[in-house]
Amino acid sequence: MTVRTGSCLCGARAYEIDGEIDGVVVCHCSLCRKASGANGNWILIVPKQSFRWVRGEDHEITFALRPTYAITRCKTCGTPLPAETDAKNVYVTAGTLDVPLGKGITAHLFCASGADWDRDEPDARSFDERPG
Ligand SMILES: [Zn+2]
Ligand SMILES: [Zn+2]
Repeated sequence: MTVRTGSCLCGARAYEIDGEIDGVVVCHCSLCRKASGANGNWILIVPKQSFRWVRGEDHEITFALRPTYAITRCKTCGTPLPAETDAKNVYVTAGTLDVPLGKGITAHLFCASGADWDRDEPDARSFDERPG
C-alpha cells in the first residue's frame, strides 16, 4: 500500500497517509482566503482511518474561530496543519505533503465568492525558478 508523508515547514509536526487519495479540493471562500493568506485552502480529504500523526503533538495550536471553522497551525513555524474537526475525514493542507500526489485538482468550491485576483492575466509569465 502507498504511504505518503507530510510535515510542517520546521519539520516538528509530521504525518502519514495510507492508500490512494482522489485529488485536491480547492476552497475559494472568504474564510479560507483569510486563513491561508492566499487564494484559498488546497485540501486533501482523507478518511480518518487512513491518517496518522507521527510526531510533534506538542507543536500544535488550534484557533476555533466559530463552531464550524477552526484552523490548526504549527506553533513553531505557523504552517497550516491538517484539521481533524470532522468526525469522518481529516482535511489535509495539500502544501504540507512531502511527496508527489500523482493527482491534480478534482473540485473548486465557493468559486462565486472567490477573489477577483484569483486568475492569470493574459500576459502572466511562468518561470521554472525565480527569474534571474
Ligand atoms: Zn512547524
Ligand atoms: Zn472555504
